[in-house]
Amino acid sequence: MQIYDTLTRAKVEFTPREPGKVSIYVCGPTVYDVPHVGHGRTAVVYDAIRRYLEWRGYNVTYVRNVTDVEDKIIARAAREGTTEGEIARRYELLEREPLERLGVLAPDQVPHATEFIEPMLELVGELVDQGHAYVIDGAGVYFDVASFPSYGALPHRTLEQLLESAGARVEVDEAKRSPMDFALWKAAKPDEPSWDSPWGAGRPGWHIECSAMSLRLLGERFDLHGGGDDLVFPHHENERAQAEAAGHAFARYWIHAGMVTIGGDKMAKSAGNFVTLTEALDAHGPRAFRLAALQTHYRTHGDLGDPELAAGRTTVARLDALLRRARAAGVAVDADPDPGTVDEFRAAMDDDFNTPAAVGAIFAAVTRANAAIDEDRAEDAGPLVAAVVALTGALGLEISAADEADAEIDALVKRRDEARADRDFGEADRLRDELAARGVALEDTPTGTVWRRARGSDE
Ligand SMILES: [Zn+2]
Repeated sequence: MQIYDTLTRAKVEFTPREPGKVSIYVCGPTVYDVPHVGHGRTAVVYDAIRRYLEWRGYNVTYVRNVTDVEDKIIARAAREGTTEGEIARRYELLEREPLERLGVLAPDQVPHATEFIEPMLELVGELVDQGHAYVIDGAGVYFDVASFPSYGALPHRTLEQLLESAGARVEVDEAKRSPMDFALWKAAKPDEPSWDSPWGAGRPGWHIECSAMSLRLLGERFDLHGGGDDLVFPHHENERAQAEAAGHAFARYWIHAGMVTIGGDKMAKSAGNFVTLTEALDAHGPRAFRLAALQTHYRTHGDLGDPELAAGRTTVARLDALLRRARAAGVAVDADPDPGTVDEFRAAMDDDFNTPAAVGAIFAAVTRANAAIDEDRAEDAGPLVAAVVALTGALGLEISAADEADAEIDALVKRRDEARADRDFGEADRLRDELAARGVALEDTPTGTVWRRARGSDE
């Protein structure tokens, strides 16, 4: 199996630390706001990688942290006149809910930063003792980047280049030895959460959390370290520097997921193209989202707006339609999966988790299965349909053979919801009438529209 490793900048053969086992650490959210479609894509990417490794027979340990103490959480708590703990709990739940809808499997462990202060202090102590960190009175403990010769290796930059590109964004602080030095431990400010330490009361810097928690939970030389590619620098480089400078062998492979764009543009609140994950799932459904997300290679930046999600919905409908047709035609969908399709899928996924090619292999089987059903060759269709069901399942996508009439009504109800959301009430009324003509009654509830067949309808 080949994986593209960000540190070596090459596709390399994947050899796990222990045969048959894979340990993964992925940087999770700082919980102070609702997730957007970019968070959804990253979650789906690592969920598909994890599921594939399990399908491949590995015993996977998957850790995804929650940053529950951080400047943005503190700022939000102050703004809303509540506690940091309340903000963190609220947004952790709001983050989990759409991921559950997406069928993202819960991590094996979800370490919270505030529960791992002890190992963080231990690591800071090691760095201070070994001369890689220094204390600034009243500010905290800082990492000395000049003491770590390979600093910059993960983003492939020299210290000079990093300084130059950071430019004016680096905070000028006379007390720091280099503007690139970063906080391991931040001295307590009034009204902020703090813990005791040998360097005075304070709280951990963001980067030290992940170094300490990944080493504590997965051990040295754990296999895969992942996250969005916006984390390569400084977050992941600082994690690596902290761990390795203190003498701990760190992640064996670094894998990074690309960002979501909308119509080719970076998604940003300021650009007005910001879409929350819940909005996207309400409009197009979680399966369409997962499929559309997997149709872009995980390392690439890719569009995941309405056109892509609508296309995803159509593609999911093709999968459902195949299963319904197969059942109706008496095809044995529990046959052994077609080996050629399985091989093609595996080859694609073994090549740096090439999900677009893997989905392509599945749809080649869909086309052949439909042709076999058309030609009354049920015995040929069976293994192909079985492969489609098994392999979409390996990517976390469930095919549903729900009644076609129901699916059509679902689609009309969804279109009406969208029309209402767009304040196109003429279209919404027209769709309500069309549904009424089919004997369907609608009820608008706070959680969405539900429908039922009106009494006397012939269906
Ligand atoms: Zn992290």
